[in-house]
Parts: sequence; structure tokens; C-alpha cells
Amino acid sequence: MRVLRLGSMGTDVMEIQSLLKRMGLYTGTVDGKFGVITKSAVAAFQKRFGLIPDGVVGTNTSRIMEPFILGYDFYTIQPGDTFYSIAKRYGVDIKRIRTANADITDENSLYAGQRVKVPFGIGVIPTDINYTYAVLQRNVAALQALYPFIETGSAGKSVLGRNIYYLKLGKGANKVLYNAAHHALEWITSPLLMKFAEDFARSFALGQTIAGFSPSEIWGKSSIYLIPMVNPDGVELVLNGLCDSNPYYGELIRWNNGSMDFSMTWQANNHGVDLNHNYDAGWEESKAGEAALGISGPGPTRYSGPYPLSEPETRAVVDMTFGIDPRLVLAYHSQGEVVFWNFRGMGTEESKIIGAALADAAGYMLEEASGIASYAGYKDWFIKEYRRPGYTVEVGKGKNPLPISQFAKIYDDNLPLLLLASVI
Ligand SMILES: [Zn+2]
Repeated sequence: MRVLRLGSMGTDVMEIQSLLKRMGLYTGTVDGKFGVITKSAVAAFQKRFGLIPDGVVGTNTSRIMEPFILGYDFYTIQPGDTFYSIAKRYGVDIKRIRTANADITDENSLYAGQRVKVPFGIGVIPTDINYTYAVLQRNVAALQALYPFIETGSAGKSVLGRNIYYLKLGKGANKVLYNAAHHALEWITSPLLMKFAEDFARSFALGQTIAGFSPSEIWGKSSIYLIPMVNPDGVELVLNGLCDSNPYYGELIRWNNGSMDFSMTWQANNHGVDLNHNYDAGWEESKAGEAALGISGPGPTRYSGPYPLSEPETRAVVDMTFGIDPRLVLAYHSQGEVVFWNFRGMGTEESKIIGAALADAAGYMLEEASGIASYAGYKDWFIKEYRRPGYTVEVGKGKNPLPISQFAKIYDDNLPLLLLASVI
């Protein structure tokens, strides 16, 4: 991590602002700009941990911040320690320590020098910052560490070799698959699924209900597969810009109409292919519609690719879907507060009824897509292939990329929908 001080700017500044805010030390805006309020919050953090309060995040400060950003700490057992005393010291529910250390079956066998994981009360998933691939990576690892009953893995690789992560909650026969961020500008849907995973896992571990649902009941009945970021390369272009080492450096600038700024326009993957127009369901129609939109090749949006499933990201999602054979799927996008169902009249009556219930749970409208948006998307392909319930959920309202300040409402709206879709 680079040294952060007054005047620094960027996603890493957002991350420490978000952390300091969750710790109650920062009252300013999480905007990625290291100003005087950030400086005094850093100084307060340093004082709390016995460091020189210079308000600069250097090596020592960032070493102490690291476990908080990760969401848990490793604690080295001292003679006489018990899970109970550790829970008390950290102010965390003992059940969460037991959950994170499920491999320690006999708590009386703790020995001096042994390392145990201790979760922090502030939680893992930040919901007020740019949700980059690096944040996702760290969060997947943290959820896996704290909730060993979550299965995690990679569904495949992106064009640039990034992991298309998946997480699995539950072990029941009723399988559902939710994915997010096919479109790069719509990255707000990634922390939506990740926060859902964390809250679900925590409630399951603590034996609590969540939004009126019982995670332990769902756990036995259903398996919820999440692919929180289908298009990691695109999200990186939007949030961190074009990297000098990108092998498509020159092409990407050309495909982006000569602009180096991808933050407000780029929906596609690193090949300039719109992943939600690359599935094999009305792909020819999607392709045929490009000319009218002035699209002749790779670009920020709506280019369907050279042929169906030309992209590693769409192939990974299709392969995973075939492997799971889900009863229902949700594809998360922004924006519009709409649930789309149906594809060319192939949606069943049951799909419509379930779609209405899901839309109702979120307070969204239920609609059928029309025009180019109704071709070659993931839910289109799923409906065509399986004739089972498949939906596109468009969260939030406004112009993409939606500001992360909409996250709280989006999460509140969609939590009941996400839970209901796993049991309906
Ligand atoms: Zn979209």
C-alpha cells in the first residue's frame, strides 16, 4: 500500500475513510479525497493504537489498519485464554469466534502460541466505496475465513485472467443462481450480492432470522450460488481506469472513441463486447440491431461480439449454469427498479406469478423487455434453454453509474427479493 497523506486521492483513500467511519472516527464524506477531516480521523486511529498521531498512513499505521480492512484479526493464544475471554476482549459474539474457527472442535485444547481468527463487529463488506476487483478478492477471502461453511471458487477467468468468483450458501436441493455486474458501469450490484452473502452467513451462524426469513431453514432447503462480478475487467476500467500494462491499451482507447476516460461510458468487457448481448438467445437479432445504433465493432456498449458466447466471461457463466442446473436465476443490473421476465413468449405462467411476487417484495415493477435490450442477455438464454423462472433485476434509479449513496435503499429493497427467490 502506498503512503496516504493530506492531498492523496483514490479508491484506497475511500477504503480508509470507510473503515474510519465504521469505527466511528470519521464524520466526513467517503469521497476518496484525503482532506483535513480524514487527517484528524487517521490521527485519532493512531492515538487509539499507541502510534504517533501524525495523520499520515505509513507502514506502521497501515499494518494496524490491515486486519480491520480485511474484517478479522489473527490472535495468538496466551496461557489461560478461552474463546470466552477473547470474545470479551474484542467485544464480539462468541458464536462468531466459534464459527470462524470451526476446525477447533475442542475449545479446552487451546494452547499458548496457537493462532485463532477473531472477527470484528464492524463487518467485512464496505458499501460506501468503489467496489473494485481487489476489494472483491479480499472480501471473498474474508467471508471464506470467517464463515467456513461458505463454499467459494472461480467459475472461470476474464479476458485478462481475473477470477469470476462464485460463492455458495446452503446445501439444499433447490438450486438458484444470482449474478451481478455483467455491465461494468453497474458495479453497485456486486456489493449487493456480497453484502447479502455476509448478512445471510452471519444470521445463519448466529441462528437469527433475516427480513423475516430463517437462513437455517433455507440452508437445508436451498443452495444459493452467487457470481457477484461477471465482468471484473470492465469494472476495473470504470473504477481504476486504463492500466499501462493492459495488452489491449491502444484498442481500448480506440474502442472508447479516443477517450482515456472509461468511468462514465464503459459497459463491456476487455474485448469491447457487451456481455449481456453475447448469449445464444436471439443473438442474430441483437447483432442485426447494432447498425441502427451506429455500432460496427467493439465499443463501450451493445456490441454483441463476433459470435454467440465468444467471450470467456459468458462461457464461464453458461458452464456454471449447466453444472448447477438451477431452478431459478436472477441477473442483477442497474437501473430502473424493474424486474424483467419472459423471452419471446417462452416464459411460463408460473414464471410470471413468481416474477410478480419478487417484484412485489422489492417494490419494483414487473415488465417484459422490448427492443434490443430483449435479446442475447443471460436471462433470455436461461429461459430459452430451461423454460424456468429467470429474471433481470434492474436496481436503483438514475443514470449509470449509480452513486454508491443509493446502496442502502437498493439493499433494503432487494434483500426480501433475494431471500424469497431462494425458496419460492
Ligand atoms: Zn445492465
